[in-house]
Amino acid sequence: MSFTLHGLGVSRGLVIGVVHILRPQIEFNEYPITKTQLSAEIVRFQSALSAALHELKQIRDQIPLIYPTQSQPQIQGHMNTAAEIASFIDPHILMLEDAMLTQAPVEIIESRLCNAEWALKIQRDKLMSVFQAIDDPYLQSRSVDIEQVVNRVQACLVKQANKAKRHNSNEMDLSGRIVLADDLTPADTALMPHHGIKAFITEFGGINSHTAIIARSLGIPAIVGVRNARRYIDGDDVLVLDGRRGIILGNPDSRSLRYYRVKQNEQRRYHQTLNRLCKAPSITRDGTTISLQANIEMPTDLEPVLRSGADGIGLYRTEFLYMNRKEKPPPDEEEHYRAYVKVLNKLSGMVTIRTLDLGGDKQADDDRRNKLSMPLNPALGLRAVRMCLKDLNLFRLQLRAILRASVHGKVSMMIPMVATLTELHQVKQIIANVQKDLRSQDIPFDPDIPVGVMIEVPSIAICADMFAPHVDFFSIGTNDLIQYTLAIDRLDDEVSYLYDPLNPAVLRLLKNILDVGNEHKKPVSMCGEMAGDSRYVRLLLGMGLRHFSVTPESLLEIKQIIRHSDLGKLQALADRVLRTSNRERIASLVARMEA
Ligand code: PEP
Ligand code: MG
Repeated sequence: MSFTLHGLGVSRGLVIGVVHILRPQIEFNEYPITKTQLSAEIVRFQSALSAALHELKQIRDQIPLIYPTQSQPQIQGHMNTAAEIASFIDPHILMLEDAMLTQAPVEIIESRLCNAEWALKIQRDKLMSVFQAIDDPYLQSRSVDIEQVVNRVQACLVKQANKAKRHNSNEMDLSGRIVLADDLTPADTALMPHHGIKAFITEFGGINSHTAIIARSLGIPAIVGVRNARRYIDGDDVLVLDGRRGIILGNPDSRSLRYYRVKQNEQRRYHQTLNRLCKAPSITRDGTTISLQANIEMPTDLEPVLRSGADGIGLYRTEFLYMNRKEKPPPDEEEHYRAYVKVLNKLSGMVTIRTLDLGGDKQADDDRRNKLSMPLNPALGLRAVRMCLKDLNLFRLQLRAILRASVHGKVSMMIPMVATLTELHQVKQIIANVQKDLRSQDIPFDPDIPVGVMIEVPSIAICADMFAPHVDFFSIGTNDLIQYTLAIDRLDDEVSYLYDPLNPAVLRLLKNILDVGNEHKKPVSMCGEMAGDSRYVRLLLGMGLRHFSVTPESLLEIKQIIRHSDLGKLQALADRVLRTSNRERIASLVARMEA
């Protein structure tokens, strides 16, 4: 019988395939051991620990072979995938080497005289409750890492004891399969293309879990958070998985299968057509040129940007410089400068470098900074420009690097999370001081470098007219603007249903910003995810947006929509949307724009 399940689509793509259910059920009970068995039990625990460590290190060592850093034609858009994936596995390796897992369970075995599996379970529960008690959603979600690491060791223990065997993708032929699991470790996910796995479904996990990030990065369609999926799906069921809409169709009848095969072919052809657009101008049917830039996270993201024919970079996030550094000290001015020049040397268009947006969910590795930025609610605390204004050395160092890089190409500077005019004036004063220093040292820079602010906080969205005379441009960060306007944590999948770009309050704020930009002749760009979401492009065009900055993967799709849009018609429809309070009516008007 056919059935449909819904979850969070975290990685796009339509896949038809046979499911394989991973059952990581490691069943064991507590059993007592005698004093004479004690040392043998500790040895058993330690050898399981070494086996788990060996497994993870082997996976890590295979990554560069599977995803070569310099050329990976099979993976579009992610030049540095190997390093990114390794960065998810390394913390698991470190945990396995930490006393919390090497020592504490031994002490439990000794004091309680119990089997190693049980001791490990006690220690896991203790660690997880500590993490879950931390008032930080990101750190809370990291308790999942502990569970995954402990599961691995327990699987090794159980395997040794020959009581059960954990299904392991390393040992089975999963080629062409859709994998279904309760949850997956980043390490499991990283190896999926190597095993030919087509797609995956998990019962748990959020849009921002490491596993979801890797799936997107590898282009593996995925749906997470499909609670109780294993109750409905049986091994070897045929599934249709729509990673964009988060829909799973089980055991489709032949008519549905035919339908989805046609859809798959359409998608294939659509992508081929899109690739032909990379050199085509981004211009509407009625002749208005729309600027279409790309967002990047690090210099290695440049390759897909060049392939997509983007006009430039509308958002160069710079937090990557502070992440995954392990023991390395924080980056100095030279490292910042080199990262910027690397991009400028390859691109002739404008590169908009955003000053640091550390804090919130983007914590640096540096302990000192972590302490500085660990407020009660990270999204509302010492984040982005607030942190820069508190740590002036950190800020000045980056400003110097951006200004020095500005002679190597077209550079503009963008300040995130500005909420008050005072902050903006402080920032401008600091920039002027840094420029003065550079001048006195005869270090060249572009004295006319444009300085803009991101609009991510409702206060600046409402009072955009007061900020306009003091900036060269605005860039709307919808990811945060929506979270702060609707009071929805953008990382929390439990409230993700309320995260709504079409909420009238959000739309009014956007319209106000666009009108202010128009009146004051200040360009307004949008670099939040809303700009790259094909469902909203026409509405945004109708509302007056003329500068889009999107991920390189979605750029050609957006260009295609722009080229098939007629601004005259869209403006009238957008005006109707803005006058509408009923959410369903708004959705149907926006859907009409797509037609
Ligand atoms: C945004 O908030 O929309 C944005 C682009 O910034 P980030 O996603 O880096 O917070
Ligand atoms: Mg933001």
